[in-house]
Amino acid sequence: MDSHPETLVDFHTHSHFSDGVLTPAQLVARAQQRGVSMLALTDHDTTAGLTEARAACEAAGMRFVPGIELSATWRGQTIHLVGLGIDEQHAGLQSHMAKVLAQRQARLREMGERLEKRARLPGRELASIAAGCAAPTRLHLARLLVERGFARDTQAAFDRWLNRNTAGHVPAEWPAFDEAMAVLRDSGAVAVLAHPHRYRASSGQLRELTAAFAQTGGAALEASMAGMSPNDADRIAALCRRFNLRASMGSDFHDPAVPWNPLGRWLKLAPGLEPVTQLLKSA
Ligand code: AMP
Ligand code: MN
Ligand code: MN
Ligand code: MN
Repeated sequence: MDSHPETLVDFHTHSHFSDGVLTPAQLVARAQQRGVSMLALTDHDTTAGLTEARAACEAAGMRFVPGIELSATWRGQTIHLVGLGIDEQHAGLQSHMAKVLAQRQARLREMGERLEKRARLPGRELASIAAGCAAPTRLHLARLLVERGFARDTQAAFDRWLNRNTAGHVPAEWPAFDEAMAVLRDSGAVAVLAHPHRYRASSGQLRELTAAFAQTGGAALEASMAGMSPNDADRIAALCRRFNLRASMGSDFHDPAVPWNPLGRWLKLAPGLEPVTQLLKSA
């Protein structure tokens, strides 16, 4: 039995509207079973699942935070920005999502073409299946490659077919960091730099990214993530203190079959860190 179920929260999760496998209602049910009291749905570049998730949280008596995870480019590198408490009706957000959806569809189509031409895989067919989603991602292609027996698991599919220097790779051209930050700001979201410990960046580069994030109105770093090493947690906590940023916490849950990031994180944080929770209005 959890002794403090009221302190379990999750501000980073995915449904099948992007590259998660559960419906929003299934996700909420699973979070409730785990004792999560406050949940954000943060699908990649889409708010399509928020209505269903909100209704399910209401029915379950859980606090709901409408969210999104935006892809963006900072100095040539892909980074992710989580927006919490977003107004999904905002016109600027809507046009941003429409633009990114078109880019995602074009990228997957091009990846399909390359897999077809360079590796003689049924890439066009797989890409057209994946393209039906509200936010099609490479993970959709990876799962289809596994289903059809072209890779043992999704990691192998990325390594062999989808990552840089493989037959199917197409570089992503995400909106610029400043543009994504402006969309979050204009749509009323609290901006969170997603999984900063996972970027391939030197400590100097990560410090510069964090500085840019703080300067453009960023509020929090994801400082308590499933799978974070104690060393990573220390590095990110130090960045929070240095730039006066709050701490967000989440699982980045996609799939119940992946055992290492179950839903829900404790609010308990390293000394000197303030949780992002007080900034959030749930709706
Ligand atoms: P995209 O936004 O289309 O580039 O797809 C990226 C998504 O694929 C991420 O959000 C992850 O969920 C997933 N992903 C990226 N790299 C890997 C990997 N090596 N293994 C498994 N999933 C991955
Ligand atoms: Mn994902
Ligand atoms: Mn991410
Ligand atoms: Mn994510």
